[in-house]
Amino acid sequence: MAVRRPGFYNQIMLPDKPREECGVFGIYAPGCDVAKLTYYGLYALQHRGQESAGVAVANGDKVQLYKGMGLVAEVFAGDQLDGLQGHLAIGHVRYSTTGASHPVNAQPLLFRYVGGMLGLAHNGNLTNVTELRSMLMATGAVFQSSTDSEVIVNIIARSAQNGLEEGLVKSMIDIKGAYSLVIITENKLVAVRDPNGFRPLCLGSLGDGYVIASESCALDTVGAKFIRDLQPGEIVVISDKGLESIQVLKPRKRAHCIFEYIYFARPDSIIDGYNVNKVRREMGRVLANEYPVEADVVIPVPDSGTAAARGYAEASGIPFEEGLMKNRYIGRTFIQPNQQIRDLGVRLKLNPVREVLNGKRVVMVDDSIVRGTTSNKLVAMLRECGVREVHMCLSSPPITNSCYYGIDTSNEKELIAAQKSLEEIRRSIGADGLHYLSLEGLLDIFGEDRNNFCTACFNGSYPIEIAKPKDTGKYSLE
Ligand code: SF4
Repeated sequence: MAVRRPGFYNQIMLPDKPREECGVFGIYAPGCDVAKLTYYGLYALQHRGQESAGVAVANGDKVQLYKGMGLVAEVFAGDQLDGLQGHLAIGHVRYSTTGASHPVNAQPLLFRYVGGMLGLAHNGNLTNVTELRSMLMATGAVFQSSTDSEVIVNIIARSAQNGLEEGLVKSMIDIKGAYSLVIITENKLVAVRDPNGFRPLCLGSLGDGYVIASESCALDTVGAKFIRDLQPGEIVVISDKGLESIQVLKPRKRAHCIFEYIYFARPDSIIDGYNVNKVRREMGRVLANEYPVEADVVIPVPDSGTAAARGYAEASGIPFEEGLMKNRYIGRTFIQPNQQIRDLGVRLKLNPVREVLNGKRVVMVDDSIVRGTTSNKLVAMLRECGVREVHMCLSSPPITNSCYYGIDTSNEKELIAAQKSLEEIRRSIGADGLHYLSLEGLLDIFGEDRNNFCTACFNGSYPIEIAKPKDTGKYSLE
């Protein structure tokens, strides 16, 4: 396992964003170099987690694993993939809920159980992990990591005396919360989506084989053809017998994470029937109708605000311009050696284009504000370029509640919209105007599917009951 000094790599340069916590990938394709294809699949999912990466490959006899801390290209910078030979594989990219890096929490996890070897990669958060871990420990279980994924493996292993499928079916009754899983044994690839379908998971074909991925962009990258999204509560088992689908639990109320469309997912992905880029553009159009302003130019905060800014420009007739240039070579992770460099913050990532901005009234479109620590710097940067008015438009409703289903949105006490009124936020970021997309406006985009989404971070309506610790209001697995 490759190990990097903990904390060496820090969070994204624009830190005022919710953090996604994983992407998963699986492939069953005899005759293909499954390790390399998994590597490319993870590359396409890198935006979902930059802290660690791993690949597990099986050849019918054994499962081999390599994982480490860092980006996919860093973990597999040498010839590690050459040693991973087989016809099926799973992979994982991860972001943890805490700032520090923990090599022991990198995935896939690999264990021996009664049926042989079992590797697992997980996207999501369990809501009853404390209860399950205590129950397992009381009966002698030991844990190497602090992840809820290891709890899932233990629950499956205990229930799998009569086969993995039966173990999975039983486990899905005990496990509560958000989980999209890929599982590997010596000769089977298994994919599981929780009964609410919080996190995305889709299925594709590659020749006679199959591919599973968090997002369809990973299928495209490896040349696989999109077949469909997994249904909430579905298990898919792929082996030399072909593909078998088991609808284990009747889907509960669908609760797809609506933030996937706002920020997390790649714009070229199609998730549960909706192209992310198209949805973002529509968000911008709705914003323009909800908040029409007299302005000279619409600019995005790149990249996640770009599609919505284009939508705003199209609907309002105000010209779209790239007023902020992104340094594409910093990437999502970035070496931040000391406080002085950290304080440069936004400037290292985004540079204003004075020629576009000077003397203008500007609509600046971003996807969301979490703590409000970046927006004031962006507004100040625009003012330094001679901008006359800044209207900040967000393509999400105000985030007023924490997420407990696999996204790090911060403690409620740190969420600016939970603590301040709209006017107070506007003043604190120094904008002339501020508008958030309304929840109604957001849901209208999805028409008759409007009730199929989790919107808890906007309205506190949690699809699965959660228990918040009384002291901090924060629910953490680590
Ligand atoms: Fe997504 Fe928000 Fe629901 Fe979390 S609470 S799953 S971020 S919509």
